[in-house]
Amino acid sequence: KAPVITIDGPSGSGKGTIAKLLADKLGFALLDSGALYRLTALAALNAEVDLEDAGRLAEIASNLDIQFAVANNEVSALLEGRDVSRDIRMERVSMAASKVAAVPAVRDALLQRQRDFRAPPGLVADGRDMGTTVFPDAPVKIFLTASAEERARRRFDQLQGRGVSVSLRDLLEDIRARDDRDMNRAASPLAPAEDALVLDSTSIDIDGVLQKVLELVKQ
Ligand code: C5P
Repeated sequence: KAPVITIDGPSGSGKGTIAKLLADKLGFALLDSGALYRLTALAALNAEVDLEDAGRLAEIASNLDIQFAVANNEVSALLEGRDVSRDIRMERVSMAASKVAAVPAVRDALLQRQRDFRAPPGLVADGRDMGTTVFPDAPVKIFLTASAEERARRRFDQLQGRGVSVSLRDLLEDIRARDDRDMNRAASPLAPAEDALVLDSTSIDIDGVLQKVLELVKQ
């Protein structure tokens, strides 16, 4: 079986950035599992499905018509052939994704789709439950954390850089609400796998984290 490196952690911990750098460095494929939940949420919002309706949500997740396309080293997400890369990053979709992800039948529906990304020479999988549920046999597992304040500040800087005006307090509240839902749901709650290396990116920068992960991969 092709090797998998799992990178789990809460929203804004920097795992997406690390996962991408690592995949580039190793020539591995990349699975951004959060994008699958975001695409499910967007499809549900588009279809005006009640986010409490587990049956309909599972149906949407099972029948998702999605593709990931790579161009200029950027991955774009297509829903029914349309590029929705920007849409799935909107706060409205983030919040809906976190609700949709709490539905066990949605998680079941997306499980095999995630496992299908595993192929030679290897895969870097980024998410919440990559090391615990989706790829429990992965040889390298990382759990990346950072304080909620630090994660809200990073998101704030990122949005400001794009000219989007938001309040830091609202972002912090959103992050806390999502953490709460991720950690307290019944199915695959956010927690490090027993054999994961836990790294806190509050104090180490991206390069420091990347160095540590590469050391681990070489072992
Ligand atoms: O990582 P990202 O913020 O893009 O994920 C969007 C949402 O999908 C998260 O808020 C989380 O609730 C959910 N998710 C999940 N399991 C994963 C990846 C994401 O529950 N493996």
